[in-house]
Amino acid sequence: MLPARKAASIVLAYTACACWWVGGEVVAGEEKLRSMKYTSRTQQQATVWQNELRLRLLRLLKMDDLVSKETLTPLHPKTLSAEKREKYVFREMEINSTPGRRIKIVLTLPTNREGPFPAVVVISGHGGTRHTCYESARGYSRFAHVLAEAGYVTISTRVSQHETSEKGRSLMGERLWDLMRCVDFLTSLEEVDSQRIGCGGNSLGGEMAMWLGAMDERVRATVSSGFLTKMDQMERNHCMCWKFPGLRELADFADVYSLAAPRALLCQNGLKEPPSQFPVSIAREAMKEIELIYKDFEQPGNLGFVAHTGGHAMDLPSLVTFFQAHLGRRKNTAEPSASAEPDKPPR
Ligand SMILES: [Zn+2]
Repeated sequence: MLPARKAASIVLAYTACACWWVGGEVVAGEEKLRSMKYTSRTQQQATVWQNELRLRLLRLLKMDDLVSKETLTPLHPKTLSAEKREKYVFREMEINSTPGRRIKIVLTLPTNREGPFPAVVVISGHGGTRHTCYESARGYSRFAHVLAEAGYVTISTRVSQHETSEKGRSLMGERLWDLMRCVDFLTSLEEVDSQRIGCGGNSLGGEMAMWLGAMDERVRATVSSGFLTKMDQMERNHCMCWKFPGLRELADFADVYSLAAPRALLCQNGLKEPPSQFPVSIAREAMKEIELIYKDFEQPGNLGFVAHTGGHAMDLPSLVTFFQAHLGRRKNTAEPSASAEPDKPPR
């Protein structure tokens, strides 16, 4: 059984009576929102808060049955095509997401060097496909291609759909589950060092990176670009696919990001974002709230924020530096891992 799955099933049994989260926010209209807002507490209490919030979110996402399953649904991977590129192999594949649903993925594997390698789940935004992070310079700086060339395994699937595939599921739950299945697949590969898995994306991809880093503890490093904001801001001028019943009553985005602590998290927002979108000023306010839990875990250095000079886009240099710092070498060992440290890619 995988660590995240195991943790989830323990939580299911354990947290029925945990009540640390008293003290949410009351807003206009006397509607009570954000009942599980994070406030500073001991590390033990912070872990209980994370487990409880994860469990409640899994239920709202209609994923709790999938995550708490005793046995992993077999992936049955199938390679549809493979193309040898200069420094990596680009494979078109499909895997089982649920027992009744298969998804198409892209997997890249480094060539001309020895693994196991660090790996990154790469996630595109609205209108994106599983190819976008490899091909699109606009917004994405082809960051998946850059990481693949630098010696990372990368994996991608589409999350831009706006309809559920299976009855009884939620849109965000299906998107997140497909990404978690990508992590399942990575951990099944002998080429991947399962202690060095990260994720990153821009816009809706940054939002899904937030969710994946928050809900799947196998992810050690998350880059969430073009998304850090507050839910009040998302109520206007945005596609409403971020919202699902019960979410606002429970948490704001800062709380969801706080589930990644003390694992590494980098948020990026562009200084050219219009005020109606994802401005740096609101991102900084949210970041102050996320800082609380990293301080409580005594790991403030694992949290980063970059206000870059662009607009609704990823900042490639800080993304590459971040993944090198947190995935480039095995942590807590004197020796580097069997693989060479990933090269610095061209800027
Ligand atoms: Zn949408």
